[in-house]
Amino acid sequence: MTEDPIVQITGVQELARDLVVIPDRRVPLVPNIGLVGGTHSVLVVETGLGPANAETVLEFTAAYAKGRRLYLTSTHFHPEHAFGAQTFAGEATYLLNRAQATDLAMKGPGYLEMFKTLGEPIARRLEGVELATPDLVYDDAHDLDLGGRVVRLRPTGRAHSKGDQVITVPDAGVMFTGDLVEAGQFSIFPWFPPYDTDVSGTRWIAVMERLAAESPRVVVPGHGDVGGPRLLEDVRDYLELLRDETWARRDSAMSEETMVEEITALMIERHPEWTGRDWIEKGVGCLCAEH
Ligand SMILES: [Zn+2]
Repeated sequence: MTEDPIVQITGVQELARDLVVIPDRRVPLVPNIGLVGGTHSVLVVETGLGPANAETVLEFTAAYAKGRRLYLTSTHFHPEHAFGAQTFAGEATYLLNRAQATDLAMKGPGYLEMFKTLGEPIARRLEGVELATPDLVYDDAHDLDLGGRVVRLRPTGRAHSKGDQVITVPDAGVMFTGDLVEAGQFSIFPWFPPYDTDVSGTRWIAVMERLAAESPRVVVPGHGDVGGPRLLEDVRDYLELLRDETWARRDSAMSEETMVEEITALMIERHPEWTGRDWIEKGVGCLCAEH
């Protein structure tokens, strides 16, 4: 039975002055959604899956913003993060990094069809989705001035997807990572050869090193509880172990089936409380291809 990926405005957390997160309540395909305010503008990070969820987010945002100008961005093009953008048309300036805008245009339609097969509640949420076109696309970096507060938007280069973007609020030490980080969950490897092989385990590790070096005070993961910099280290450590265990077995010419069996058992032993165990196998497949 697939759970309805509905965004609910409950348990909203204030992480810093004028900076809140609508938590995912640990519901699959609901992302953590952020609102970051300045004196004249408010930035929304992630839309929720589909137009009805985005409507919920927009209503909350409008009440929160109290007349301030609105901006919208997402950490990457995956459906629960970006497939509600159409609802913000005419209400918010939709801002994306170039690689993500390309992902959305090139891969968005395929993901829309694929996600419709994941269960009735998800298909219902995706009814009427029209992939939106960003109002503003930047290349290397973008500093968004919200009034007395500058938010840094930075593409990381290919890792969880080709167009990953991290959003940081330096004055509050808050970092939105999207699916580069999940809390209490094995890293999501969207490794679906031959349809999608953009995810890169080795590049992802390098990105985690760079993000950890920024020492944020608060990390908002794509899914799971908001935490501190430890979340970045946990992901890096997991990915490094996954790489090392995969490559060691690859060198000994073990069959992929046995490899997956052994590594899955090892990782579950290491993190018995983490969910998303099916993603371990995808990670092994990806790292095999990168050996
Ligand atoms: Zn994702």
